[in-house]
Amino acid sequence: MKIHAIETGLVSVKSRQRKGVGAIGRRLNTLLDRTWTEWLPIYCWVVEHPEGIIVIDTGETARTSDPSHFPKWHPYFRFGVRMRVEPEQEVGSRIKKLGLSLNDVRWVIMTHLHTDHAGGIYHFPTSEFLVSRREYALSLGWKGKLRGYLPNCFPTWFDPKIVSYTLGEYGAFRTGYTVTKAEDVLVVPTPGHTLGHQSVIVRDGEITYFFAGDTSYSDQLMIERSIDGVSPNAKLASETIDRIHAFISGGPTVYLPSHDPQSKERMVQRIPTIVS
Ligand SMILES: [Zn+2]
Repeated sequence: MKIHAIETGLVSVKSRQRKGVGAIGRRLNTLLDRTWTEWLPIYCWVVEHPEGIIVIDTGETARTSDPSHFPKWHPYFRFGVRMRVEPEQEVGSRIKKLGLSLNDVRWVIMTHLHTDHAGGIYHFPTSEFLVSRREYALSLGWKGKLRGYLPNCFPTWFDPKIVSYTLGEYGAFRTGYTVTKAEDVLVVPTPGHTLGHQSVIVRDGEITYFFAGDTSYSDQLMIERSIDGVSPNAKLASETIDRIHAFISGGPTVYLPSHDPQSKERMVQRIPTIVS
């Protein structure tokens, strides 16, 4: 199995978004924070699987360099996030540069629907999108906009397949969904960063890749069991961190958050994350 890390530009958020501070005021603390993180990669992933190409998240679109792309009334987009994406960094052109055809992308698995993961959806009109029921519901309508999603930017044809977690217990996870016939690509619910967040597990021989989306901003923060500054439910986020720890302890696992500058290196070198 060949896996490619695709960096679709850069994002910077508040330091307290990357690593939450406080309990009740955690989300407010994030917004009021004046310090920014360094520019972080926006990774998405392309898996050349014998059953078809699988894309995990779609990264951000260069349209975000136009300020009118974001709703001005929303405090998060106004004060909480900065993007830097060039047109040639978008996932569509990057996949073509790999010599692959977008029409051969069979599945696009979305960890969640925040704009820096969903901005490239429009590149894949012929693929099957896999989204969790909760995530899709949360993203829609004006309530979705309040929560920080941009449903108005979803293409009109966007009609994802809702993942029904029918699998019994899988490692530390209570349930999951098997994507491939070979049963080597699975989706597991990892609520925390968003309530409908899910992660993708790819088993390749002795190694397991864990495509974490935003369950943490780096493997170090996962090791530290740190909760980010935007998770709506800290208890749920903490339970998910426990599960991921237990899963990682179960066998060599390469843990790959979307915004960890070291993710690509760990993926290429197949370096497992060690938790105690
Ligand atoms: Zn996110």
